[in-house]
Formats: sequence, C-alpha cells, structure tokens
Amino acid sequence: MIDFKHIDAASTEHALSVLAQYGQGARLLAGGQDLLFRIKKYIVKPECVINLKTIPGLNYIHSNPRDNLRIGALTTLSAIAHSAALQQSYTVLAQAASVVASPQIRNMGTLGGNICQDVWCWYLQDGFSCWKSGGKFCDLAGGDSRYYGSIMGGHLCLSNHPSDTAVALAALDARIHVTSPRGHRVAAICDFLPGHTWVDGRLQSHSLPSDEIVTEIEIPFRPTRSAYVKFALRKSWDFAIASVAVSAVIEGGMWDDGRIVLGGIATSPYRSREAEDLLRNQPMSEGLATAAADAALQQAKPLKMNGYKVDLSRTLVRRALMALVE
Ligand SMILES: Cc1cc2nc3c(=O)[nH]c(=O)nc-3n(C[C@H](O)[C@H](O)[C@H](O)COP(=O)(O)OP(=O)(O)OC[C@H]3O[C@@H](n4cnc5c(N)ncnc54)[C@H](O)[C@@H]3O)c2cc1C
Ligand code: SF4
Repeated sequence: MIDFKHIDAASTEHALSVLAQYGQGARLLAGGQDLLFRIKKYIVKPECVINLKTIPGLNYIHSNPRDNLRIGALTTLSAIAHSAALQQSYTVLAQAASVVASPQIRNMGTLGGNICQDVWCWYLQDGFSCWKSGGKFCDLAGGDSRYYGSIMGGHLCLSNHPSDTAVALAALDARIHVTSPRGHRVAAICDFLPGHTWVDGRLQSHSLPSDEIVTEIEIPFRPTRSAYVKFALRKSWDFAIASVAVSAVIEGGMWDDGRIVLGGIATSPYRSREAEDLLRNQPMSEGLATAAADAALQQAKPLKMNGYKVDLSRTLVRRALMALVE
C-alpha cells in the first residue's frame, strides 16, 4: 500500500477546504469498500484521503408520507435495506440495497459511495493499459466481456456501471445534491451518471468534478409500486450480470407514469422509454410484459462474448413487470 495522508473531516466545509488544498491528489472516503480496494491495487494513488464518516449529520433517512424522501449520502446500504418505510413505499431501493455484495459490505458501504464507485472491469484491476488508466485502448472491447461489458455501446470505456442502487434510483427519478466551493447544486440521476465521461482529466463513471461532495439523495414523492430483480453468478458477494428496476403508478389495474431501468448491461443505468411507452395506460399482462421486454432490448449491440445478456435481460424485464401486479 502507498503512503498517504489521512484526514478526518469535521464538516463538509472542512472536507471541501482539504479537497481544494490537494486538488487531484485527494480522494474522498466513505465506507471504503471501493476506494481502499483501488488503493491496494495501485489503481488510485492519492496523496491525501479525506474521511467523510467523521462529518456529523450526513447519515439519515427522512421519510414522511406524501413528501419527498431524503437520504444522507453517508447512510449505509444496510440501513436502507432494513428501513421499513423504504421497504413499503420505495421497495425498489430497499430491494436493490439488500442485494448489494454481502452483509459486511452493506454494513460499511454508503449510498453516496455506491453511486460514485468506479467500474470493476478486470482489465483495469489487473493492470492492463486502458483508457481509464491513461492508455489509449480498451482491452475489454475485443477481449473477455462476459461479465463487465456493456451491451449498449459506450464512449471509450465499455465497462458496465456496477451499482445496484443507481438503477433503482433512476427508476425513482432521484436527484443528487452536491456541495462545492461554488455552492449547492442538484443533478438528476441520469445527468449525474451519463456514462463514462471526462471530468478534470479523468475518465469517470460519474460526472462529479473532483472538488465536489455528494451530500444527499432526494426522491420525489410518487405513489408508485416498484420492484428490483437481479441476476448474478453467485447469490452473495457479486455484481449484477443484469438487473432491472421498475416503478409505476398502478390504478384500476392500469400502468401509468412508469419507469423501466436496466442495470449491469450499459455504462450507466439504462432507461427504456420504448418499453415505457408500450405500457402507458395499459393493463399489465404476460403478453404486454413480453412485448415491453423485447422493446427494452431493441437497441442492444452486444460485444463478442456477452450476447447472452440480451435474452437474460429480457427475462428480467418480464419478471420485474409481473412482480408489480402479482
Ligand atoms: C466483493 C465486492 C462485491 C461487490 N458487489 C457489489 C454489488 O453486488 N452491487 C453493488 O452495487 N456494488 C457492489 N460492490 C461495490 C460496493 O458496494 C461499493 O464499493 C460500495 O457500496 C461503495 O460504498 P462506500 O461507501 O464503501 O464507498 P467508498 O469506497 O468510500 O467510495 C467509493 C467512491 O465514491 C467516492 N465517494 C464516496 N462518498 C462520496 C461522496 N459523499 N461524495 C463524493 N464522492 C464520494 C469515493 O471518493 C470513491 O471514489 C462490491 C464490492 C466488493 C468489494
Ligand atoms: S472497459 Fe474501461 S476499464 Fe475496462 S479495459 Fe476498457 S477502458 Fe479499461
């Protein structure tokens, strides 16, 4: 492990001032389940690590009936998975948090860290030269894309976005609250996770500049039913090969105001408006769920070794849709 300075932040203002002091040399630490792995593998070599867990007041779930849900960025995935209020009214998010990795990782990992984690492509992990590590080539593009490769294309880096909770948050139209020396701003989740993007000279899986901190995740109130289904090779400790988050207002058996978002198959949570349009103001049925699943995968362009994800994803879309009406 490399040597680095470790600073316990006393407040977000303190964390921002240390970020400003170290610039690109600083990294934020929440639960550490992503960052520490990358430091140990020499993928990331920070001069200074800023511990956010010592900041009071960023660990909360504020859930009131008919009001927007607010979750502090340092709230653990376990707290989200076990929250009775979320299980009832934001089922998709509680379910997604409950299938991240393992209980130990969920006890440490935070919602902010889960959506800001980087890709887990094994070419990056094992020291191959690639766009993310300063090279000019993506080895996964023509190589082994079975688990971590996008089937929806991508910009330079073709590794899929790994977060389970981001897929659920996209189905709930979440907004990400961010603070920086320029003040406070709010980004829609799809703008926060647009696919791999250059920010401050880094090819990132999110659009957050290096001097900003995520403070809160807000979910607008909608009286939805929702569900998350995930397929992984192992039951525990494993990323999604593919996953689907759905949410919809269902009145008199009719589907309305729905979202269908796929995970594990694209460089960001992949929302299918084609599938959503098919379902609008229709009563859900097996036949309609199958048609929506076909529509959701219409744009798929699998790589050499991950074509199987197309059929798998279709099945998951069908299952997720039927879960809302069963
Ligand atoms: C074996 C294993 C299996 C896994 N399986 C899954 C899985 O099935 N599903 C899944 O979704 N994930 C999985 N993960 C990833 C894991 O869930 C994430 O690493 C974890 O949730 C990250 O949260 P954290 O709080 O530990 O983040 P950290 O490691 O502390 O931070 C992650 C990144 O986010 C940045 N960051 C953290 N908080 C903030 C903030 N508030 N503002 C700005 N930037 C911030 C950090 O600088 C860092 O770059 C797995 C990880 C391992 C090791
Ligand atoms: S998919 Fe991304 S991380 Fe993997 S080799 Fe290609 S550029 Fe690197």
